[in-house]
Amino acid sequence: MSARVLVVDDIHANRRLMEAKLEAKYYTVLLAENGLDALEKARTERPHIILLDVMMPGMDGYEVCERLKQDDATRHIPVVMLTALNDREDRLRGLEAGADDFLSKPVDDFALMARLEALTRYNAVASELRQREATSAQAASLTDEEQNELSRSANILVVDAEQRIADRLITPLKAAGHFAMSWQDSQGGRAKSRDLDLIILSMSNQTYNPLKLCAHLRSMDSTRDVAIIVTCDPQDREIAAQALNLGASDIVQTPVDTQELLARVSTQLKRTRYIEILRRRVDRGLELAVIDQLTGLYNRRYMLSQLQQWMQRASVGGKPVSVIAFDIDHFKQVNDQHGHEAGDVVLQAFAERIRTNVRPKDIVCRPGGEEFLVILPETPGDLACVGAERIRHAIAADPFMLQRSAEEINVTVSAGVATFLGEDDTLANLLHRADTALYQAKQSGRNRVESVAA
Ligand code: GH3
Ligand code: MG
Ligand code: MG
Repeated sequence: MSARVLVVDDIHANRRLMEAKLEAKYYTVLLAENGLDALEKARTERPHIILLDVMMPGMDGYEVCERLKQDDATRHIPVVMLTALNDREDRLRGLEAGADDFLSKPVDDFALMARLEALTRYNAVASELRQREATSAQAASLTDEEQNELSRSANILVVDAEQRIADRLITPLKAAGHFAMSWQDSQGGRAKSRDLDLIILSMSNQTYNPLKLCAHLRSMDSTRDVAIIVTCDPQDREIAAQALNLGASDIVQTPVDTQELLARVSTQLKRTRYIEILRRRVDRGLELAVIDQLTGLYNRRYMLSQLQQWMQRASVGGKPVSVIAFDIDHFKQVNDQHGHEAGDVVLQAFAERIRTNVRPKDIVCRPGGEEFLVILPETPGDLACVGAERIRHAIAADPFMLQRSAEEINVTVSAGVATFLGEDDTLANLLHRADTALYQAKQSGRNRVESVAA
């Protein structure tokens, strides 16, 4: 997996060196020599990752980062800040400016490639989800509530065969407001695995096989999407590289620097939660596209696509498909006498009554207003009429309750049944016949079922 990386550094030799390193790993490299140049290129060239030097004359790295994060067009691009060795002040300022990750100068090649690889993978998922989100205009910006979710305290499991070392990590994590627990205290991870947010997994000198465990965590449903930070001795880089390949999210060298660990924990939590938020939005977008929000029934769009599919099956030798069109009788009076809100309550209860009076394979839709339509796959017209009659009766048999006033009102419905006639028939004709039958039911006194003979 490759990516476009924008390298921002004021020193020519630094830029060239980084360019050579990245190109050797097949990254595409863009260069910027100052803050303004970087902002411009971030907007126009849309890099996937930005490597940003902190110390630059004029606009420094913090300000560049802040501006990138304020701009809808660039805020989603991960920024890795290059700071002076272990300078905590620098890192805190970087975090405040919205940096996504840090690397110490001089940059260690292994750490650099590990971070880039993890970010590239993260980018692939995030950008896929952003594209799929129906309301893409809002994709880049989060609501306040979602923003809070990113920094909410987390459930963290620390896995190290030595309880003493685990405790050394747990103390600062708790001090930072997280719920942290060792593998031993969690009874082998069982206690918490359901609502874990992050796992810190030690790779070195363990009694267990750390790579096997890493692969296992990635394969289980309950921990598949949980961030894993591995800690490892600088001598065990081979293992760390394999852990990354198995899906670990980040690496911290031992002995663990507490500030660094906390910064990386916070970065990983933000990333996994951002992905979670995007996933939820995509699901919601998909749902909005097919579900009517008032009743939870399928909407017109879904109705038409399903009908088309069942008609196609019927026309290539499948069993016939029928439809029942419903229209509530004198529904305007319900609104006029009890108010629009009461009308909505009736529509919801009405939908529920249809739903409980059809077979599992029937598709109940609300194409609009007080009109409903049920698709009956693999059902000839006479059986569809029986189904329609059952629903008509279920509506008329018992009054509807208006929740607030505890008042009861009687509701009836008229129905028109039509059946797909095969190859020469069309969707428009089928719906038209159902409407014609429905009209006849209204004309003949309402609260009845009619069907149109072919
Ligand atoms: P008929 O027996 O001939 O069908 O009479 P009707 O009063 O049901 O028919 P009409 O088409 O004149 O009125 C339908 C009413 O349904 C008008 C409209 O205000 C109401 N309506 C449509 N959608 C909604 C909705 O989502 N909520 C509520 N409360 N009312 C709705
Ligand atoms: Mg510099
Ligand atoms: Mg009506």
